[in-house]
Order: sequence, then C-alpha cells, then structure tokens
Amino acid sequence: MNDYFCRMNEIKKYKHLFIDLDRTLWDFEKSAQQTFETIYLKYNLKKLGVPSIDEFDKYYTIHNNRLWDYYRKGEIKKEILSVQRFELTLKDFLIVDEKLAKYIANDYINLSPTMVNLFPYTHEILSYLKSKYTLHIITNGFEEVQQNKLDYASLRQYFTHIITSEMAGVKKPEPEIFDYAFQITKASAQESLMIGDDLKVDISGAQAVGMDQLFVNYDKIKHSENPTFEVNGLKEIESLL
Ligand SMILES: [Mg+2]
Repeated sequence: MNDYFCRMNEIKKYKHLFIDLDRTLWDFEKSAQQTFETIYLKYNLKKLGVPSIDEFDKYYTIHNNRLWDYYRKGEIKKEILSVQRFELTLKDFLIVDEKLAKYIANDYINLSPTMVNLFPYTHEILSYLKSKYTLHIITNGFEEVQQNKLDYASLRQYFTHIITSEMAGVKKPEPEIFDYAFQITKASAQESLMIGDDLKVDISGAQAVGMDQLFVNYDKIKHSENPTFEVNGLKEIESLL
C-alpha cells in the first residue's frame, strides 16, 4: 500500500514530458525502406549493379550508423554525413559516382519525411499524455527533416516546443541540449521525464542531468541500465503516467 502511494507521488511530480522522435514515435526503418524503394526505381539502381533494395539498405545502414556517430560527436558536418552515406554505399556496389550520391542524398532528405510510418498507438498515447502533461519533442535529426516529419504525420498539435539538436547547437546525450530544453520550456529536471528508444542517447543523457527516464524498448533488448520506467510498446505508457 505504501509502495503504491509512493509510486503515485513519484508520477504526479512530472509536468513536462520530453519525447524523442525517431524510432520512438516515428518508425525510422520503415520510412527509410519505402524511401529506398522509390530511389531504387528512380535511378534504376538494379541496372547499375545493386541487386536489391535490401542489399542497398544493409550497406547503407552500416555507413549511416558509423557516420552518425561521427556527426553526433561533432566530428563531421551534416552535409558530409548526408552525401557520404550514399557515396560509400554506392561504392560497395562498385558505383563511383559523386553526382548520383548527391542526387540520392537530396531525394532522401526530401522524400523520407513524406513516408509516414508511426509506431502503433502514437496518436492515442500523445493525445492521452497531452491531457495530463506538457509535451515537447527533443530530437537529434536534421532540422528541416524533423520539422517536415511532424507536419506530414500531424504530430505538431501535441507539442508545445520542438527542440532539435541543430537549434541547440549540441546533440543528445550532451547535457547542454537538455539544459537548453529546460531553458526554452522553463521546466526543471525534477519535474521532467525523458521518453526515448536509445539507451545511450536518451536514457543515459537524461540520467546525467538528473531527469527521470522512460525507455521504449520495442526490440526487448537485454541491458544493464536502470531506467525509471521501461515499456515494450507505447500503449503500456498509459498505465504508468
Ligand atoms: Mg530515437
């Protein structure tokens, strides 16, 4: 009984929820897959030597994840990440064509936000949470891409502030982006909760600034972190918050 009341008090303290976008609400992999389908056909990549979209995706993901790590640490610029992930993927299929990489990079930026794929229960949970808390997005994606995703998916209506790493000048998990978010929203760490899918970027990042965290673990990965809450799907949040 006591535990129950402690828990209720704990939960009641939140006023602001900071929510990650990619892979938490927005099904990034599905959107990327659909974007690649369009690009694959448009540039006739089969004829150029890329056997399938899946193969293209496989190599792209390797390059993209590696380059994103550099970008997150501030070691490469957005423009380099944007083109090089495709330039290197094409090279894996022996296509050396910087111009083509640039066209594809440009198409990817423009097309991917239009391929709307949200995880199940996204609208329902946001609508529920909005009735109880003030909601904000905090995301590391490219500014224009993330803004477009919110528009195409009709998600903007739920959020008071959209905080992007480009706007803040630093990326999650750096403490500065959370400090920036608190400044903009006039929230404190104690009354805030971070909701995200990435243990390093969202959960550890929030922990480091004294904010509670809710880990959205879709893939049910095993880990040794200790988030305040953990769920395997968005609907489960309803019983926690
Ligand atoms: Mg994410």
